[in-house]
Amino acid sequence: MRLILMGPPGAGKGTQAELLIEHFKIPHISTGDMFRAAIKDQTPLGLKAKEYMDSGALVPDEVTIGIVEDRLKKADCQKGFLLDGFPRTAAQADALTKILKTLNMTLNGVINIEMENEELLERLTGRRVCRQCASTYHTVFNSPQTPGVCDKCGGELYQRSDDTLATAQNRLQVYNDQTEPLIAYYEERNLLKRVQGDQEIKQVFSEILNVLE
Ligand code: ADP
Ligand code: AMP
Repeated sequence: MRLILMGPPGAGKGTQAELLIEHFKIPHISTGDMFRAAIKDQTPLGLKAKEYMDSGALVPDEVTIGIVEDRLKKADCQKGFLLDGFPRTAAQADALTKILKTLNMTLNGVINIEMENEELLERLTGRRVCRQCASTYHTVFNSPQTPGVCDKCGGELYQRSDDTLATAQNRLQVYNDQTEPLIAYYEERNLLKRVQGDQEIKQVFSEILNVLE
């Protein structure tokens, strides 16, 4: 299964990705997670990405496309993959189409999780992420059994530095300007599958499985 998960920041892509990769046994390719890991390890990629991520801007296309291309060429992607947070610009979408063609791969679908802006801010500012395994929680909507501790691995939960109100607002604006137009790109290619994101996590998941049938 080769899938893309799209939707505005906070729509629930990471949350659904955790369920989908378990269901389909495919690798999760989240460019955001890759950048955060690089920042944690203080690699040159991390230093570059941090400049942009701190303000809610997008990391430049040439950097982002390169890391996704390298990742898709790895052996584990032969059995499929789930792209989460990529592509985010028209240039990234065009590059991905070319990369997949070279690798002789076709997409099974592009899932677009639809959500209204007001609720997104509440989701983003209440989000907590595990430092160890990157699992996602919410202080109110999806709280861990013990506050501040990951249910899955016992790791410490933290608030992403780009989940403050001001940066989250910027990210929503960037999404509207640069990423939302990609919905039409995939609609034209008959790949787009829409699901409603303002439902229970399990409900969204079962809707995704339905649209993929
Ligand atoms: P994205 O990856 O699209 O930015 P996340 O999956 O990280 O979004 O979800 C954003 C926040 O909203 C997280 O705190 C998550 O726990 C919460 N969340 C995700 N899906 C739902 C849902 N269906 N209902 C309520 N809260 C949700
Ligand atoms: P995310 O984890 O998907 O919310 O992404 C967090 C941040 O990482 C974004 O606000 C961007 O700064 C950066 N980022 C993630 N994916 C991309 C991408 N495909 N293109 C450019 N920047 C990205």
